Order: sequence, then C-alpha cells, then structure tokens
Amino acid sequence: MFFNKVKSGILRSFAPISLLVSWIRFWLICSKLKPQAQLYIIDIDNTIADTWPTLLHPYIYPNEKVRHQSLAIFRGMRSWILQQAKQPNTLIIYLSARPPELMSTTLDWLKSCGLPTIQGGIILVPNAKSKIRFLKLANAYQISITFIDDLSYNHENGDIRLYDGVIEVVKLLPIKYIGLPQLNEIQQLRHDY
Ligand SMILES: [Mg+2]
Repeated sequence: MFFNKVKSGILRSFAPISLLVSWIRFWLICSKLKPQAQLYIIDIDNTIADTWPTLLHPYIYPNEKVRHQSLAIFRGMRSWILQQAKQPNTLIIYLSARPPELMSTTLDWLKSCGLPTIQGGIILVPNAKSKIRFLKLANAYQISITFIDDLSYNHENGDIRLYDGVIEVVKLLPIKYIGLPQLNEIQQLRHDY
C-alpha cells in the first residue's frame, strides 16, 4: 500500500514528461498519416466505458486501478468503433483525462474489450481542456478527424454538466464532433458482436 502510494506520487511528478512523450508520439503518428486517412479520436470515460456509476460507491474498490479495470463497456459503442476500424486508412486513438499512472490499466482494459490499440495510441491528459491542443495538432494535417467525447461531468451527483468552454472551441475546429446526446444513441445501438 505504502509502496504503491510512493510509486503513484513519483509517476505523478513525471506527469508533464509523460504528457510531452504522448505529444511527440501523437505528432509522429499524425505526420505519417496519408491525406485520405480517417482519424477517430475517442474519449474513454462515459463515452466507451460506463464510468460514472463506479463513482457512486468508490470505496468498494481497493484502488483506482481496480476501479478502472472493472469498468463496464457500452457494447453499442464497442460495435460502432469496430465498424469504423474496418474502413481502410482508419486509425483509432484514445484521448482520456486520466492520470498517467493508469496507462497500463487503460491499455489492458481496451485490449480486454477487444478494441484496437496502436503504439502511442492512448493519450492521457490532466483534464478536458488539455484535449484541445491534441485536436489542434491533428488538425494541422490534412486528414479527416472525428472526435467522440461526452465532455460532461457530475453524473454521479444527478446533475450532468458540460464542459461548455471546451465544446465551444471544439465546434470551431474543422472536425466532426460527436458529443451528447448523439453519443448516447451510439452507446445504446444494438450490437452484432
Ligand atoms: Mg468522458
């Protein structure tokens, strides 16, 4: 327990470095994409994963890794992502506001759900606002971008709020944005898998 806390503390103090590494990896991915590429940038919590109910009773989980490992997936969203991934020149990137120490847990969870992952294709940022800089970086390349993210919070308190400031900026970018409520429709789609 103590060792885990020390390890988390060390990882957290390296957070700016891990963000920089993610930035460089993402830049390398984008710079290699063909002009006809379709890039899907997808949030995880409350977009792919049914995360907020686990915040109702967080004390039942021994730690954050276990809580994140045990998240349920929206099967409609899983089917939808797998369908998009079948298209040629399509790349799936995950962009999530999670602490860097959850990187391996996040990768394991995505793999266990059968979702496609690539090297450097999981980007963990400190907050929703930090996602904008990654969207702008991708947007500097002549590729088609779809961004899927609920950009919402406070579900666990029965009063869903939106990151309005972030959504405003995202809507000004020349990318396709799928947020609430369109996202809820995909989550509830019937699935064939
Ligand atoms: Mg989310």
